[in-house]
Amino acid sequence: MSVQALHKQAQIGVDSARRDAAHFINGAFTQGSTGKSWENRSPLDNSLIGRVPEGGKAEIDAAVRAAKAALEGPWGNLTIPQRTDLLAAVADEINNRFDDFLAAECLDTGKPYGLASHIDIPRGAANFKMFAETVKNISTETFILETPDGKNAVNYGLRRPKGVIAVISPWNLPLLLMTWKVGPALACGNTVVVKPSEETPLTATLLGEVMNKVGVPKGVYNVVHGLGPNSAGEFLTQHPLINGITFTGETRTGEAIMKQAALGVRQVSFELGGKNPALVFADCDLDKAVEGTMRSAFANCGQVCLGTERVYVERPIFDAFVARLKAAAEALTLGRPEDSCTNLGPLISQEHRSKVLSYYKLAMDEGATLVTGGGVPDMPGELKDGAWVQPTIWTGLKDDARVVNEEIFGPCCHIRPFDTEEEAVKLANSTPYGLAAAVWTENVSRAHRVAAKLDVGICWVNSWFLRDLRTAFGGAKQSGIGREGGVHSLEFYTELTNVCVKL
Ligand code: NDP
Repeated sequence: MSVQALHKQAQIGVDSARRDAAHFINGAFTQGSTGKSWENRSPLDNSLIGRVPEGGKAEIDAAVRAAKAALEGPWGNLTIPQRTDLLAAVADEINNRFDDFLAAECLDTGKPYGLASHIDIPRGAANFKMFAETVKNISTETFILETPDGKNAVNYGLRRPKGVIAVISPWNLPLLLMTWKVGPALACGNTVVVKPSEETPLTATLLGEVMNKVGVPKGVYNVVHGLGPNSAGEFLTQHPLINGITFTGETRTGEAIMKQAALGVRQVSFELGGKNPALVFADCDLDKAVEGTMRSAFANCGQVCLGTERVYVERPIFDAFVARLKAAAEALTLGRPEDSCTNLGPLISQEHRSKVLSYYKLAMDEGATLVTGGGVPDMPGELKDGAWVQPTIWTGLKDDARVVNEEIFGPCCHIRPFDTEEEAVKLANSTPYGLAAAVWTENVSRAHRVAAKLDVGICWVNSWFLRDLRTAFGGAKQSGIGREGGVHSLEFYTELTNVCVKL
């Protein structure tokens, strides 16, 4: 299927103009007033998908003011059941328009339908339902205080919305990661202004249609497209009416946003980069460990913040593991999203491909042994101009090599042997990141012991990417600030007021 045919299937908007992305401000689609836009190009073949308007200060200001008005008006006046019913309807409508969302997400990212239809779109819908349920069922603390006059006072906690939330999201799982923030923000009674990644504007735009269809009041959900520094992203985070900033993206961008958030002392919630380890012990189930590491290293073309880029394998099974992961990587099929045999898409953009290929070269310069891949695959003619790279495995790098310490965000990993549990833990903890880890062992004592020693926010044992949305999600060290998921999201999206009543 051509990009044009995928595009037709995506039905972005009701007219051809809205196949281009649009801002969604105060319940209406608009191209804004800057007169500037950029080309949205397909990572599959570099063909033109459409244009994206570049928002400026005026669009951000209009969106933030609309969000503020909705907060003080129709949205703020709803009861919790009215609000959560609307969010359940949003989830249902995403599922009703599943094929539109799927086609839009795969247009922007080039990722396989098989992946997006199992993860991106269903999770995008689930994020609204799950947080709607959470806020309905959450209690707060109560304390009775005995007072000197022999009577007492009752203290209880009240959770109130934080206000207007700026949502800044990345391109790797666009709908899923954006709704992971918008879902709890709205469930808690906030309103939002979203700045999606410049690479992936379509599903955020499409969600505007869903909001209008189910009757979410105008101004509750706003989208402004634009760039980061000195553009919509920065203008949004600096806007004085923004009460909190939630961001998923690179650690360096997080540092810039934190400085912007300091103005007016706004709280931040950050999900940042990672350089995640997998520890494969000789007592593991090798089939499970190879299959799990194959997914964690190569799924979504390695563009998963939780993905594994460092694999440490206990020496007795090192050669067998490397041989089996090599065979699994070489069996991956690169191709078009809609082909059922495709399990690897392209990288997000030519720019990102240049970055990943520069690390492929650096690995060789740093003395790696190439196990497989290392370059650009030979794609059929019509896909020649896409952002394709080969799944790649190296061994033999020193522990201080840049390739072993810096986040690459591509389909690649380095495998190194270890001899003791202590050494494995030390190696795993040796980067400034601390997002996730995977431990492969059939020894239950070892599993618990090692999990407790890893400096990470999420530790999987004999699994990867298995997510219970009620549990805490986030990174330690330079991988983030705060936790999202279940009740943990309420810490950021609400203000806790203690009410003390003297009886
Ligand atoms: P970026 O940090 O480059 O961009 C993320 C968003 O921030 C984009 O919308 C970007 O705009 C915007 N932005 C950039 N600069 C500023 C600024 N100064 N002020 C406000 N906004 C700004 O990340 P990527 O999109 O490249 O995503 C990949 C990264 O995300 C990886 O590092 C990955 O590890 C991380 N990630 C972390 C996850 C986690 O849960 N910890 C999950 C998924 C990804 P623009 O459109 O111009 O780029």
